[in-house]
Formats: sequence, C-alpha cells, structure tokens
Amino acid sequence: MSTSKVKKAPAAKKSAPAKKAPAAKKSAPAKKSAPAKKASVAKKAAPAKKSAPAKKAAPLSAAQKAAAAKKATADKLKAAAAQKASADKAKQAAAKARADEAKKKAAEKAKQIAEKARDAAAKKKAAEKAALERKKAAEAKKKAAEKAKADARREREAAAKKRAADKAAEIKRKAAEKAEVEKRKLREIEAKKKEQERLRLERQAEIERLERQEREAQAKREADERRRQEALDKKRNAKPYANEPDFLAEMRELLIAKRAELTGQISDFDDQADEMLVDRERLEYDEEDGSSLGSDIQRAQIKEMANRWRLEVDEIDIALARVDEGSYGRCDECYERIIKDRLRYQVPVFTCTDCRATV
Ligand SMILES: [Zn+2]
Repeated sequence: MSTSKVKKAPAAKKSAPAKKAPAAKKSAPAKKSAPAKKASVAKKAAPAKKSAPAKKAAPLSAAQKAAAAKKATADKLKAAAAQKASADKAKQAAAKARADEAKKKAAEKAKQIAEKARDAAAKKKAAEKAALERKKAAEAKKKAAEKAKADARREREAAAKKRAADKAAEIKRKAAEKAEVEKRKLREIEAKKKEQERLRLERQAEIERLERQEREAQAKREADERRRQEALDKKRNAKPYANEPDFLAEMRELLIAKRAELTGQISDFDDQADEMLVDRERLEYDEEDGSSLGSDIQRAQIKEMANRWRLEVDEIDIALARVDEGSYGRCDECYERIIKDRLRYQVPVFTCTDCRATV
C-alpha cells in the first residue's frame, strides 16, 4: 500500500508539482489512521494482563487448591494464552513497528524524493526561468540590434540627405558668392572709374587752379613791375631841388665857374702844346740831339691832360643842362637825392655817396 502511495505522489507531482505537493501531505494523515486502529488492538490486550493479580488467591484449601490447580492450569492456559496473545501482540507490535518503520522509511524516502523532485522542479523552473530570461535577453538584444541597425540606417539616410542638402546649399552659396563677387567686381570697376574721373577732374581743377594762380601771379608781377617801373620812372625823372631855385642857381654858378677855369686851363695847355710843336720843328731844323724826344713826351702829356679837361667840360655842360631842367642833384644810379654838401664840394657830380663806392 505505501509503495503505491509513494508512486502516486511523484506522478501527481509531475503534472503540477507546486499544487499537488499539499495533496501528498493530505494522504499522509491517512497512514496515521492505520496505526491508530492497531493501537486499539494493543489496548484491548492490555486488560488481559491485569487479570494476573488473581494468582495471589492460590494459598487457600485443597478444593481450593484443586480449584486453584485447576485455576492454575486454567491460569497456566490462560497465561499461555496470554503469553501467546502477548507474543502475538508482540509479534503484531513488531510487525506494526516494522510496518511503521517501513512506512516511516517510505515516507522519508517519499519526502526525500519529493524534496529531490521539488529541488529538481525548482532547478528546472530556475533553468526554465533562466532560459526564458536568456531568450528574452537574446530577443531584447536582437531587437536592440535591429533597432540600432534601423537607427543606423535612418542616421545614414539622414546623413546622406543632409549631405545632399548641404551640397545643394553649398552650390547655392557658391553661386551666390560668385554672383556677389561679380557684383563687387563691377562695383569696384565702377568705383575705380568714378575715382579716376574724380581724380581727372581734380587734376583738371588743380591745373586750372595753378593756371589761374600763375595768371594772378603774373598779373601781380606785372603790376609790381609796372609800379616799380613807375616808381623808377618817377625817380628817374625826379627833380630833387626843383623847388629850391636858389640852390640850383648856386649850382649853376659853381658849374660855370668850374667850366671857365677848365676852359682857361685847356686853352693854356693848347697854347703850350702849340708852342712846343713850333719849338720842336725849330730844334729839328737845328739838328739838336736827343732832347726833342723828351719834349714830345711832355707835349703828349699836356695834350692828354687838356683832353681830360675837355671831357670834364662836357660833363659840366650836361650838369648845366640838368640845372636848367631842374633835375640836377639826382643820383644816376639810384635816382636818389644827392646831398647838398657833396654837390658843393665836387663839381660836377652825378652819383650819391653810397653809389660812388659801387661805381
Ligand atoms: Zn646813388
């Protein structure tokens, strides 16, 4: 019976280990009910032993002895029966103990098997769980890999799209840049032209300005020159002592006196020279030695002196003419007035003291 129960328990456990385990436990109390029945058998035998104290009534009469013997025999039989019963009981008890032991062992074994089965089930469950988790993990990994792949593809696509867009933008930008460069070049050329035109106009204006300046300067120079010339003319025609007729009269007197003196001297010298010539002719005639040569030199000196005085007379005549027109007393060099003292002490004179040094 116990073996079948043990066998049934694992079978039950195999179908649903966790739920049927309690069922196996329920069947265990059923085993305990069996020993309880046998215990009641043992208890029934026990009152038979209590009849033994009846032996103590034996030491009475013969009848009583016979009865007693009978009784003893009966007791012996009884005892034998009791013994037999006891032996049976012991046997039963031993059998029960063995059965109990066997049951206990079987129960333990069943328990061990059940534990093992539980362990195995737990292990299996754990393994299944682990496998499931591994599977889940693998799936998750796979999914992640797929997602990563998809993401990468999307990224690549996006990158390619972006590159294309960038390229288009770059082409557009370059075109715009080129257009801008062209525009700038045109603007620069225009600006350059304008600048050149501006410079040309500036140069032209400058040239005109310089020409104007030159004309103005020329006009100024001419005006200056004219003024200078006018001033010079005025000076040249200056009559420093025209308003001093007394002084001019004094000058005329001095000049005339000097002229008279000079002409007198010239006349004397001319006479001397003539006389010397006459003398020479006479001497030549007398064939006089070398003395004629000395008189020739002397005569030449006399004539030279007379000529110099003649020049002075000419100058006096010029001076007298100037006195007449009122311009005498003006320096021939600087046209300034010659001071009266110089005019009085040198006759005639045509330069001032300053100009005398330079002439
Ligand atoms: Zn002067």
